[in-house]
Amino acid sequence: MSCTFDLEHYGELLDSISAGGYRYATFEAEPEAGAVLLRHDVDLSLDAALRLARLERERDATATYFLMTESVFYNLDSEHGRATLEELRDLGHSVGLHAVYPRASRDDRFDAVVAWHNPDREYVHEPVSGFVNVMQPPWFTKGRYRSDSNQHWREGCPHEELASGDFEWLQLLVHPEIWVYEGASMGDTMRAMLDAKQAEWLEQLVDDRIDLT
Ligand SMILES: [Zn+2]
Ligand SMILES: [Zn+2]
Repeated sequence: MSCTFDLEHYGELLDSISAGGYRYATFEAEPEAGAVLLRHDVDLSLDAALRLARLERERDATATYFLMTESVFYNLDSEHGRATLEELRDLGHSVGLHAVYPRASRDDRFDAVVAWHNPDREYVHEPVSGFVNVMQPPWFTKGRYRSDSNQHWREGCPHEELASGDFEWLQLLVHPEIWVYEGASMGDTMRAMLDAKQAEWLEQLVDDRIDLT
């Protein structure tokens, strides 16, 4: 098995969660033994989030999707944004707020859980009024956290340890875009995402009655 950032290995990662006997939990209660808190920070693409969400549904996996209200890459208030929120909920996933410090204001689209986008050390683990901050203890506990940032697992891809049940519990942060779009490097993966976005935007322009002739 090779630890590539693609949907095939993402499926294998989910299989290893089942093989290790773990169950999926949300951030609304403190983590318990045997739990996997599967977290997706959606930084760049709602389409990538939906692709992952559907794949998880096929494998009876549930995750919390953290969505931004101030992204320059997508608009949660657009028709596509609203449809994405609805489909994520319909698929059985939870939705939290992926906020830009210091602004964290909650509305009924989000559960009372927040993950800061690109947080600084000074506040990353601090409690946030009205929310569970996913990086505050005990939700964040050293040795029970893995993240795939920029296609790099700082402590290694956890699939083997998950399959053999090595973690008492684990918070697993996966960024959908870097698995859904293919490329041999993070740069190539991002360029593949931009190609997909260009095709979507051309359709949007037509829908917007723009003459592309
Ligand atoms: Zn792996
Ligand atoms: Zn982020």
